[in-house]
Amino acid sequence: MGVGGNFWDLLRPYAQQQGFDFLRNKRVAVDLSFWIVQHETAVKGFVLKPHLRLTFFRTINLFSKFGAYPVFVVDGTPSPLKSQARISRFFRSSGIDTCNLPVIKDGVSVERNKLFSEWVRECVELLELLGIPVLKANGEAEALCAQLNSQGFVDACITPDSDAFLFGAMCVIKDIKPNSREPFECYHMSHIESGLGLKRKHLIAISLLVGNDYDSGGVLGIGVDKALRIVREFSEDQVLERLQDIGNGLQPAVPGGIKSGDDGEEFRSEMKKRSPHCSRCGHLGSKRTHFKSSCEHCGCDSGCIKKPLGFRCECSFCSKDRDLREQKKTNDWWIKVCDKIALAPEFPNRKIIELYLSDGLMTGDGSSMSWGTPDTGILVDLMVFKLHWDPSYVRKMLLPMLSTIYLREKARNNTGYALLCDQYEFHSIKCIKTRYGHQSFVIRWRKPKSTSGYSHSHSEPEESIVVLEEEEEVVEEEESVDPLDGLNEPQVQNDNGDCFLLTDECIGLVQSAFPDETEHFLHEKKLRESKKKNVSEEEIATPRATTMGVQRSITDFYRSAKKAAAGQSIETGGSSKASAEKKRQATSTSSSNLTKSVRRRLLFG
Ligand SMILES: [Zn+2]
Ligand SMILES: [Zn+2]
Ligand SMILES: [Zn+2]
Repeated sequence: MGVGGNFWDLLRPYAQQQGFDFLRNKRVAVDLSFWIVQHETAVKGFVLKPHLRLTFFRTINLFSKFGAYPVFVVDGTPSPLKSQARISRFFRSSGIDTCNLPVIKDGVSVERNKLFSEWVRECVELLELLGIPVLKANGEAEALCAQLNSQGFVDACITPDSDAFLFGAMCVIKDIKPNSREPFECYHMSHIESGLGLKRKHLIAISLLVGNDYDSGGVLGIGVDKALRIVREFSEDQVLERLQDIGNGLQPAVPGGIKSGDDGEEFRSEMKKRSPHCSRCGHLGSKRTHFKSSCEHCGCDSGCIKKPLGFRCECSFCSKDRDLREQKKTNDWWIKVCDKIALAPEFPNRKIIELYLSDGLMTGDGSSMSWGTPDTGILVDLMVFKLHWDPSYVRKMLLPMLSTIYLREKARNNTGYALLCDQYEFHSIKCIKTRYGHQSFVIRWRKPKSTSGYSHSHSEPEESIVVLEEEEEVVEEEESVDPLDGLNEPQVQNDNGDCFLLTDECIGLVQSAFPDETEHFLHEKKLRESKKKNVSEEEIATPRATTMGVQRSITDFYRSAKKAAAGQSIETGGSSKASAEKKRQATSTSSSNLTKSVRRRLLFG
């Protein structure tokens, strides 16, 4: 989409794969209709309202896992041509059969149009309930995305539409693959400029030549390669004017290109007469004279050597002749492309140029974007109604977003002691999880047994720490199928009456929200590691010492059947016998073993 031909292929060498933290704490503009369109798996097969499902997961993912501040942009009234191109693409990728829908002239289906608009509207409703800002463009969504980018309101645009560069985007994320080490396929305009020597107006010129979303055909017979060669001849300031000239039938003065009159024919025939070449060796002179007195270039005693295949005479006449031929070729090439351009009707289309260059697309002020808190109640109703999801599932899947907001708030303003979702308190850092090479903390959120008697843990946070089995590091396997579009599903843990929720959180964010707890965790981790190292160095048979203030290992009291079977020892930061005792009684239950009603009770009952 965007510029026609294989335009993206031209930019491909300038693609950069960026890692997990690329968008962290950055604002990013998302072209909503492409957000819906550009998915491969979620929509295939029968899923109720795939656009809503996808928007839900992707947005939470972008917000919580990648730590971005997304702002969504919807099309205002795009030019009819363009919206048709988008819609047909959408339906192609969705696999939905559109044959039965009524088709009016130009292959445009009113029904399809209506359906797409309805889906966009539903997504906007969802996004607004999530507290994500949504801006409506006056025209094209990617134009507003680009403008927000060029004016510094956002750091990047997420759109697969190459038009974004023409509209002034500085950084375009073409694709996101959540389940990879480097999820973002990213293009910087500065790299394109320095690599290809193309600036914004050059790109506009290319799009005029090869076609774009507004004028799909471009100039007949001119593809990306030819267009590139044409526009590179001119500076950014001139390129559009020169195209205008060519369109009007004027042939530009191109270095090494078009020159009037003399095309070298005269020179060649003149030269042939005056400077004959030997037909045997190819050098200056004649075969006859070379036979008599040898050729000075061949350097043999008598006669001359037969010229090899592909022989190139380097005499000044021949060099000049080659230059002239080259120039003629270039000339002919320019004449041909100029003729083609001059033949194109109304070229270049000033309206399209103005469209790309106009900067007045903003409806409001880009600085007014703000990120709120999801309206959980209404969101649950919406998802239950539209997707037939279980209310507890909606709440659970929303959790990463809520915990991210909570941690951000906490990091910003440490005075408040609000609970996550009014029900869960930060309990502890369970472990470090590594997924696709990226580390995060698994955070344990605790739901106090009695909500009314909650305050006890408030006043004595130290005592609320229960020692549990530590999983030092979890390295998740990389799955090929991903129904949640990369979202890490929060886990529920029922630990001897204490309800825990486990979420994956950014290490840096947790660190700034809970510096003491993070330091404690990292300290304990270090101790465990050094202890483990000592153990392996000193022979495992030696009984583990509990000296030097090193906390006793939980294995002194309790051995996990699972870990024992694996032949590994578990070390935790447990220091008191009482807590170990508690641990002994503890029965960890994974969410899959819980009944639905228990799970519902756990999830914000
Ligand atoms: Zn010769
Ligand atoms: Zn010779
Ligand atoms: Zn020669």
